[in-house]
Amino acid sequence: MTGITIKLAAELEEGVGELCEICLEKPAARVCELCGRRVCEEHWREGRCEACEIALCQVCRSRLSVGYCAACGRLVCEDCSVEVGAARLCRECAAGFKPGGPRTSRRGGPASSRS
Ligand SMILES: [Zn+2]
Ligand SMILES: [Zn+2]
Ligand SMILES: [Zn+2]
Ligand SMILES: [Zn+2]
Repeated sequence: MTGITIKLAAELEEGVGELCEICLEKPAARVCELCGRRVCEEHWREGRCEACEIALCQVCRSRLSVGYCAACGRLVCEDCSVEVGAARLCRECAAGFKPGGPRTSRRGGPASSRS
C-alpha cells in the first residue's frame, strides 16, 4: 500500500514541477534568461518573465535594476547608475547633479584668473 502511494507521489511531483513560478497555476512554457524562473505564456514578456519585467532598469530596459535613482525615483541597473556618496543616481540625474550642494568651494571657479 505505502509503496504505491510513494510511487504516485513521485510521479505527481514530476508533473507539477513545470508550473509557472509566478501564478503557480498554468504549466510553464518558457524559462526566463534573467532569473531562471519557469513561467507560462501569460507571464512571459519577450525574453524575460513578468517578475523581471517589473524589476527591469527603466533606463535601458534590458538589465535587472539594482536600486532606485535618489533623484527621479526610476529603477536603474548597475550600468545606468552611479553611486554618489550613499545614494544612487541614474546617469541622467548624475549629469545634472552638483556635488557639494549649496556649499560651493571656491576651488577652480569658472575662468577666474586667466592672464
Ligand atoms: Zn503564469
Ligand atoms: Zn525572470
Ligand atoms: Zn540600465
Ligand atoms: Zn534619475
